[in-house]
Amino acid sequence: MRTLFKGGSVASGRGVRRADLLVEGEKVSALGRGLKAEADRIIDVGGCVLFPGFIDAHTHFDLEVAGTVTADGFASGSRAALRGGTTTVIDFACPDKGESLASGLGRWREKAGGKTFCDYGFHMTIDDWSGSVRQELPEMFAQGISSFKMYMTYPAMLLGDGDLYRALKELTALGGICGVHCENAGVIDALIAEKKAAGELSPASHPRTRPPYLEAEAVARLLRIAQAAGAPVVIVHLTNGEALGEVLRARKRGQTVYVETCPQYLALDESLYFQENFSDAARYVCAPPLREKREQDILWRALRRGDIQTVSTDHCAFTLEQKAMGREDFTRIPGGLPGVEARGELMWSLGVARRRISVAQMCRVLSENPARLYGLFPRKGTLQPGADADIVVYDPSGGHILRAEDCESAAGYTPYEGFATDGGIRQVWLRGRLAAESGNVLLSTPEGKYMARGKCAL
Ligand code: MN
Repeated sequence: MRTLFKGGSVASGRGVRRADLLVEGEKVSALGRGLKAEADRIIDVGGCVLFPGFIDAHTHFDLEVAGTVTADGFASGSRAALRGGTTTVIDFACPDKGESLASGLGRWREKAGGKTFCDYGFHMTIDDWSGSVRQELPEMFAQGISSFKMYMTYPAMLLGDGDLYRALKELTALGGICGVHCENAGVIDALIAEKKAAGELSPASHPRTRPPYLEAEAVARLLRIAQAAGAPVVIVHLTNGEALGEVLRARKRGQTVYVETCPQYLALDESLYFQENFSDAARYVCAPPLREKREQDILWRALRRGDIQTVSTDHCAFTLEQKAMGREDFTRIPGGLPGVEARGELMWSLGVARRRISVAQMCRVLSENPARLYGLFPRKGTLQPGADADIVVYDPSGGHILRAEDCESAAGYTPYEGFATDGGIRQVWLRGRLAAESGNVLLSTPEGKYMARGKCAL
């Protein structure tokens, strides 16, 4: 099957240009102006921008948290992804404490296998550093896992400074890259204990116990540990200017630091936690929390300057019923927001349409950079000949209202309810097949492929 996309513009990380695009089978086969190829079908994409399928390098599907399981498993989560233009997700395999990495990865391969509608890979979570974990690392690379995740917060998952250092050093020697959740653990726990003792148990206490400077402290400490280890690192879900300042200082010393932020930190702010109604506030609980509105401009400027390399969602969906587990105690609200469905249209509407970032910058942070950073380039993240024909057809004209009732996510709500988009995603193609159109997922069988990934090339 040969499909010709005619009359549109094609985005890359370098710019956007008028070009036709020819797809043969699962691959892009040609790109150029006025392509005269014989095609079985012609798709008129006049006025539209074609992006390489978006990559969401931070999702949590089918994850047990706080005595419950995320509302989205790999089926609904990946359908939501496709609806939002995301053709590849990189989820997190999370072995239990003491479980081998191989066993944890096996469980995640099973959770996703035969259920996932988009392509997918896994980062490996390391919440325990030991000789046996170390010995398992080469096998992880052999199975296509080139990126890892460590926590500086959450008592059940965090690594101490010494283990962070040892793990970063070892992973770097093997050619791996590690993303780290940076928030100070001890002080946050002490602040939470104070709030509990004072009986201040509403969601309003959530941001007050996780202030931005305790994220910045952890970023600064991580970057010094990474300096000692000679390791490049990824700061995941960075939320604020002080934390970003620590990154810029480390880069000035010559360190390699990649930064991810998320749409919720660009679009929403902490005033949502101060709403009277429990459910209205609880639905936004995530860590790090939403920040003051002024941080949004700082993050947008950093995206524009290239100081932030990727925008992922940290999609971790719970229903409002699940969020109600914390009605009497904000620390029992399962943390996380659904977002995989809205990211592309939010970035266009808040970013490109408002001239905060260019089309090329949007392409970099949603497609090209995550592909390079996580070893998927040039199979993913570009529309050059030879790449997978994962294509988002974005129509800048018109717009629509984001509504939970239209979503594939099982969360039952969207943090962006009522948001008016600028334009919208008209079509999403996964390896040459039309996967979603006008907000409807068309695929009826889960044919997402596991992506064995290579090493970081950003
Ligand atoms: Mn996460």
